[in-house]
Amino acid sequence: MRNFYIYNTLTRTKELFKPIHPDMVGMYVCGPTVYGDAHLGHARPGVTYDVLFRLLKHIGYKVRYVRNITDVGHLENDADAGEDKIAKKARLEALEPMEVVQTYTIRYHNAMTRLNVLPPSIEPHASGHIIEQINLVQRILDSGFAYISNGSVYFDVQKYDKVHKYGVLSGRNLEETKEGTRNLDGQDDKRSPFDFALWKKASPEHIMHWPSPWSEGFPGWHLECSTMSEKYLGEEFDIHGGGMDLMFPHHECELAQNVASRGTGGVHYWMHNNMITINGQKMGKSLGNFITLDELFNGTHRLLEQAYSPMTIRFFILQAHYRSTLDFSNEALQAAEKGLKRMLQAAKDARKLQPTSGAASVPEVNKLKEQIYDALLDDLNTPNALSYMFEVVRIVNGAKDKSIALNEEDCAVVKALFDDIVFGVLGLVEEQSDSASTKVISGLMDMVMDIRKTAKAEKNWAVSDKIRDELKAIGIQVKDTKDGGYEWTLSD
Ligand code: ZN
Repeated sequence: MRNFYIYNTLTRTKELFKPIHPDMVGMYVCGPTVYGDAHLGHARPGVTYDVLFRLLKHIGYKVRYVRNITDVGHLENDADAGEDKIAKKARLEALEPMEVVQTYTIRYHNAMTRLNVLPPSIEPHASGHIIEQINLVQRILDSGFAYISNGSVYFDVQKYDKVHKYGVLSGRNLEETKEGTRNLDGQDDKRSPFDFALWKKASPEHIMHWPSPWSEGFPGWHLECSTMSEKYLGEEFDIHGGGMDLMFPHHECELAQNVASRGTGGVHYWMHNNMITINGQKMGKSLGNFITLDELFNGTHRLLEQAYSPMTIRFFILQAHYRSTLDFSNEALQAAEKGLKRMLQAAKDARKLQPTSGAASVPEVNKLKEQIYDALLDDLNTPNALSYMFEVVRIVNGAKDKSIALNEEDCAVVKALFDDIVFGVLGLVEEQSDSASTKVISGLMDMVMDIRKTAKAEKNWAVSDKIRDELKAIGIQVKDTKDGGYEWTLSD
């Protein structure tokens, strides 16, 4: 088996990957909190850990990949204050919380399928593991690192820090971990602002609650991942992944819970993907640059000049190393679209390659193969792997125009690189005319909306209303934006 080197966030070094069980890798990744549409922030971990999953399998491991669905306990202030995100959405839309969960879980799955992200081996829901979570709270209480306060249970961070040191994953000392935690608001029962909730007593208006030895309430957000990773992967497992924004407090708290309850951090390699920025800015609802995956695929967000196909997004993500930030812009996406097209055309041509009998071996072919594997096995260096793969594209084009002659072995290596790496490990697929037709649709939409704008300017309400009503009749909802532009969505 080939050696795989993985950057471990905990040790801050690249390490040779040594799984606990020689042929079964256990891998846990924090999944989405399902209260809204899947967006760019979901695409990056989705694709990154999918490539890891595919690569480990490709080099011969069996992998048990667990990715959870957060459907309870994730409060607005990531730690433990404010309203539950799911419950809030349910209240605003007058739905059952589990209707919200179902709706957005399905949408998340659809978006991941379009990005050709393989489903994980197990996808547990937090709400399905309340008993196990209550159990874990009890174990932490028994170990003395938690206390009960007015029906809630909190983790005693200062006490834990004295024995085990809190903050090792994010590299913060105790004082620094206070940054970003909200001031106590009086209704809080914590002894100290460092502490975080393991179990919260539900207020009368809180709709999602379960009985426990301490109160009718609900688990703290960090608890579910400690619980479900242990349940499905054991007390010690290989890889824990997630976005860098989860490193603190979520993963730091998870690690402390693991140590407090079972005497071990449990995770051998912590992995964090970096964030996505948009035109150099952080993505956020308040900044107006929050782009959902559906908007990207349909080209309906005002920041987008066109629709970008799911494979363009996947290719774009692969063009950066997962530990680097990745900046979205129309220019960068258009460049990715071109690169992907070139790659997929070469894949088609490679399939038709005919070996030249008697041709000498081209040493570059095997060298490129090794470089591609080395890049991927060097902490998933997908950008380097892709640039070597473009050298293979050059060879395919040379063989096509007969400036390069490939013998049978070289032809087989080239074909295998497309099958095993481009389609296999990198998970790209050939897209049908899907992106061409969405381009036509967004072009037509621009034209129609331009006519409507002119009609409105001329106070020709008959025409502008007719356009709005007829679009609505065929299922297109148009929303005017503050800057005079528009957004459109297909209604369900
Ligand atoms: Zn998690």
